[in-house]
Amino acid sequence: MEAYKTKMVERIELPDREERETNLEAAGYNVFNLDAEDVYVDLLTDSGTGAMSDEQWAALLRGDEAYAGSESFDRLEAAVADVMGFERVVPTHQGRGAENVLYGALIDEGDVVPNNTHFDTTRAHVANQGADPVDCPVDGAHDPDEVAPFKGNFSVERARERVDRVGAENVPCVVLTVTNNSAAGQPVSVENTRAVREFADEIDATFVIDACRFAENAYFVHEREPGYGDESIAAIAREQLGYADALVMSGKKDALVNVGGFVAVRDDDLFERVKQRAILYEGFPTYGGMAGRDLAAMATGLREAVELPSVRDRVEQVRGLGERLREAGVPLYWPPGGHAVYVDAGAMFSHVPTEKFPGQALACELYREGGVRAVELGEFAFPGAERPDLVRLALPRRTYHREHVEHVVDTLAAVAERADAVSGLEVVDEPEMAELRHFSARLQPV
Ligand SMILES: *Cc1c(COP(=O)(O)O)cnc(C)c1O
Repeated sequence: MEAYKTKMVERIELPDREERETNLEAAGYNVFNLDAEDVYVDLLTDSGTGAMSDEQWAALLRGDEAYAGSESFDRLEAAVADVMGFERVVPTHQGRGAENVLYGALIDEGDVVPNNTHFDTTRAHVANQGADPVDCPVDGAHDPDEVAPFKGNFSVERARERVDRVGAENVPCVVLTVTNNSAAGQPVSVENTRAVREFADEIDATFVIDACRFAENAYFVHEREPGYGDESIAAIAREQLGYADALVMSGKKDALVNVGGFVAVRDDDLFERVKQRAILYEGFPTYGGMAGRDLAAMATGLREAVELPSVRDRVEQVRGLGERLREAGVPLYWPPGGHAVYVDAGAMFSHVPTEKFPGQALACELYREGGVRAVELGEFAFPGAERPDLVRLALPRRTYHREHVEHVVDTLAAVAERADAVSGLEVVDEPEMAELRHFSARLQPV
């Protein structure tokens, strides 16, 4: 049973086949270059693309735009305390702002930072402090076929091995990303969170949780972890986040807003350092680069995030898409994560070699076939990383209906049917920084 009905609508249109062909060519076979109005179902990202509730819009209208001591900040502070159990909060313009503020206060040059898997911006911010980001996923995390309940977990053994080599004094913090975005949005168990807490104590490091998808994660714990089936999402989220010393949050994910983020900490001294950096990079610590109205909407969104019907709708919609695609014979990373389904384009187009970007070819075919936009996360986005050539279908929160999901399934099934006829792509023009090429490079069919 869906937990929402529609109160406001936005028209969307599927351009005809000829227009899609023209648009694709004009975009240089890179879907980042498409105009959003030419896309029918946009699954590029779930970041900041969801629909706000009537309660959030109401809160937004009552936003307090005071520079200091805004009432909207008080609401956010109360929501973070109630939902996440942290009393000290500093808002930021989005998640990476929070990373810059917190990691700048914690990390020194030459340090090593273990994380179950660094999300792109996290890796960049750790590296930007002159430190070494070390991924510590569990075995099987990047294996599309390994079925396990918590493939997002942090491998304490892997982290310990590295820490033993560099010395605990060079490891200022340990980060746990829930869900594990860069490992296909896979969840992290509470048991694993407890183990990371013990590990952080053992090496005297600050335990940071990247809480972007904390509510989706709590839903998986509710469903899969022994002993949590009768616990509420809110209680599970509080327990799991309760093990951490600090949080970084992108409000564009589970806080159900289009922009925003924050840092939350327990320690007074760290709080002071975070506030100083916030003033430097984000704004006065009671607004942190956000409008008061957006703080108010984020406060309301955080409370909605842990309501069972809301998060259940979300995770089950993603899973439903995965199950339908699997029935249609589309090769997938399994099981689906909390925010997205990942198609194994390398397996789908086994005749296209990795250096001809099977994932990017699939992203183009999805647009050509059905006006669907997805994102490649393989050789094109991460050159030489030797990852499987996956394409991510990320569902915006509370945005698309069953018919849209069915359209995506039909589109993929049609592409799968003529998979042998699909050719690879080559880059014709790319920016200087290889790390950023998937955002703007232009390609052509081989
Ligand atoms: C999105 C995201 C970030 C960065 O947040 P932005 O709001 O995009 O700046 C950090 N960590 C994870 C796990 C994310 O998914």
